[in-house]
Amino acid sequence: AKEYGRANYQIYAPFMTGSTPYEELLLERELREALENHQLQLHYQPQICLKTGALAGFEALVRWHHPQRGILGPLQFIPFAEKRGLIASIGRWVLFEACRQLKAWHDAGLPKVPVAVNLSPLELRQRDVLADIQKALATTGLAAQYLEVEITESVLMQQSNPAQHNILRALQALGVGISIDDFGTGYSSLAYLKRYPIDKLKIDRSFITDTPHSVDDVAIVTAIIQMGRSLQLKVLAEGVETAEQQALLTHLGCDLVQGFGLSRPLPAHQVPSWWHRWGTQPLFA
Ligand code: C2E
Ligand code: MG
Ligand code: MG
Ligand code: MG
Repeated sequence: AKEYGRANYQIYAPFMTGSTPYEELLLERELREALENHQLQLHYQPQICLKTGALAGFEALVRWHHPQRGILGPLQFIPFAEKRGLIASIGRWVLFEACRQLKAWHDAGLPKVPVAVNLSPLELRQRDVLADIQKALATTGLAAQYLEVEITESVLMQQSNPAQHNILRALQALGVGISIDDFGTGYSSLAYLKRYPIDKLKIDRSFITDTPHSVDDVAIVTAIIQMGRSLQLKVLAEGVETAEQQALLTHLGCDLVQGFGLSRPLPAHQVPSWWHRWGTQPLFA
């Protein structure tokens, strides 16, 4: 984790801990300005089909180019944004920008693959996500089939929240894909898997990291892949870093992989050239 942090963006002590009310106020103002001054940026991490090696989609991951602090990762400001009521504006920006970018890539001849955006639990409760998504698709011209939302298990655990249920059903009816992010780290109840219209499970990186050496993790990953298959869900493994991990996942019949071993999240301008190179090289060359 340290290595990853160093390579991607500077690590600062989390803003929230030990900051004074004055510092928080300052930060809130900076974050508002970040939205207006185009300091937020999306990076796109490729998702690869294990069977064919083809690009299967992108996950959009937000970063903040802070004028003084450098590039900040989402974990350094999304929790703060939630706390200060700024998550709706940020989430809306992420959604529109991801749809706009994908449509531009499709029009430019890149493969027609979907983009996934992350929705935090709070967003699903506070924002009119459905209206935002319909508007983003209509405005950018991206077809609904090319958009996915990633939500964590915690969202689905509140025993049948009707509003939430309706949102997910409506998204499914639109053709928007629904993925469970960080699968396996949330709760032990799997009842939500049959209650909600889910398309994909993303096995949390914590289960992948110590494979193939950890017998326990291999057992857990095997079980998740089998369950996913039985329920006719696509299964994606997050955080794939080594050729051994990829070989194991191929052997186990995992559908999709995402991780630094395939590609780090890329700024948009690097994606077309990445894709051209990708098309001509084997997995883990
Ligand atoms: P996530 O959705 O589980 O995204 C995967 C995270 O794992 C990303 O970190 C990605 O860079 C990192 N990752 C991918 N492959 C590897 C790997 O092989 N090794 C390691 N060590 N890490 C890998 P990132 O970009 O820092 O994002 C962290 C989390 O922040 C995301 O976790 C997601 O929950 C949240 N997030 C990101 N963008 C947004 C956003 O636009 N809105 C909201 N609400 N949350 C976001
Ligand atoms: Mg995600
Ligand atoms: Mg994830
Ligand atoms: Mg994760």
